[in-house]
Amino acid sequence: MDAQSQVLERLRSAFQSGVTIPEQFRQTQLNSLVSMIKDNEEQIVNALHKDLAKPKFEAILSEVDIVMNELHYALNNLTSWMQPEYVSKNLATKLDNCFVRREPFGVVLIIGPWNYPMQLLILPMIGAIAAGNCVVIKPSEVSAATDSLIAELIPKYLSKDCYAVVRGGAEETKALLKNRFDHIFYTGSQAVARIILQAAAIHLTPVTLELGGKCPCLIYGRVNATAAAHRLVWAKFFNAGQSCVAPDYVLCSAATRDALLPALRQVLEDFYGKEIQKCPDMSRIVSPRHWTRVMGLLGRTKGKVVVGGEHDQEDRYIAPTVVVDVAEDDALMTEEIFGPILPILTIESLEESINFINRQEKPLALYVFSDESSVVKKVLENSRSGGFCSNDAIVHMALPGLPFGGVGNSGFGHYHGRWGFEAFSHQRAVMLRGWALEKLNALRYPPYSESKLGW
Ligand code: NAD
Repeated sequence: MDAQSQVLERLRSAFQSGVTIPEQFRQTQLNSLVSMIKDNEEQIVNALHKDLAKPKFEAILSEVDIVMNELHYALNNLTSWMQPEYVSKNLATKLDNCFVRREPFGVVLIIGPWNYPMQLLILPMIGAIAAGNCVVIKPSEVSAATDSLIAELIPKYLSKDCYAVVRGGAEETKALLKNRFDHIFYTGSQAVARIILQAAAIHLTPVTLELGGKCPCLIYGRVNATAAAHRLVWAKFFNAGQSCVAPDYVLCSAATRDALLPALRQVLEDFYGKEIQKCPDMSRIVSPRHWTRVMGLLGRTKGKVVVGGEHDQEDRYIAPTVVVDVAEDDALMTEEIFGPILPILTIESLEESINFINRQEKPLALYVFSDESSVVKKVLENSRSGGFCSNDAIVHMALPGLPFGGVGNSGFGHYHGRWGFEAFSHQRAVMLRGWALEKLNALRYPPYSESKLGW
């Protein structure tokens, strides 16, 4: 038996023993995750710095605090999530006990990406543990320092019988996917998602796909250019633009663009200073291969670079860059940018802008900036996206009460908070019936007659 099969065998027999079912066990494991993060905050921050030059502040905010908040939320709510949910009944079921019971799937697989390598593995894992599953996590090999830290920490803090880390790249992941899992939760690119779905099809394994895409930011009507620039610059250049919910491009009128550009320049300087490459608050592109891909997009654009454009291959640095005069068929519009480049497309009317986004694949998030609530309402009601946020970006994903996930090409299924518990639970329909009301039952037994249907 190979190493992967041995791990799965161990987890499968732990699940079958029922050890993960009691609430107390789940609480203990979630508390151990709290300790894991608390005890190792410095190592986590250092690993993220090695992988992405992630600033400590961003690491704490987006990989430590968000995980801690999710853990506390799950710990505070687990008892109520685990209660049976009684449903309303009709005359024929009046004497029955009818409820939905949340049950774990079994042994589940969580595959993570490199851009938030801690958050995007541990957040789904919290839902999977809360729901009572055994879990295999597969970190991204690209964020190598975090990958190795996770592999070191998980067995130190969590039950080795129930939870395991499998490491490796494409080949190891493909081998892992040959095994039968009871659910696969994948975060990453659309190309790899197709491989995941094909592998899942063999075993009819249910899948959650958390994918990316191009998240638009529409700026229409009255808007304060400085406030808009603050929020846009923060959301776009956080983690050097390597966020699945980063605003990918801006749509606005020429007049708004002209008001926005000086504000963007000023805010970039206020945030990162005059020499951005020297600023510790700017992350780096994760690897030379990814740097080359992002620079390739910039090299092929027919638009005009009006802010930034500086780059340094050795340092995997790309300056926050703004490109204008970008057409719908420009290189920057062909794929998710996933880097610090912000194209601005000018479309004069809000209606045309809505038509534009509706011609594209449904994005993971859609942003609209406007002082006018009618503009926000119009975009919300006439578009489709995984999530929606007005007058800010990214922040909607930090609220555990809101489901996080895509729609169409940006993925399917969702998690965070109770939604994460649900994503890893089977909602089992239960009807507990006794032997009463046999006379009423006679209405459905043969010999059939139309009078029995009430005609
Ligand atoms: P990726 O698809 O390249 O890698 C993700 C995982 O898949 C990694 O663990 C990797 O080892 C594995 N993998 C890579 N190639 C594989 C193959 N051929 N067969 C099997 N497994 C393979 O994605 P990435 O580059 O790490 O992440 C970037 C993408 O993820 C972007 O599109 C981004 O928008 C998306 N993303 C989405 C979310 C979300 O929550 N919806 C969050 C972060 C990133």
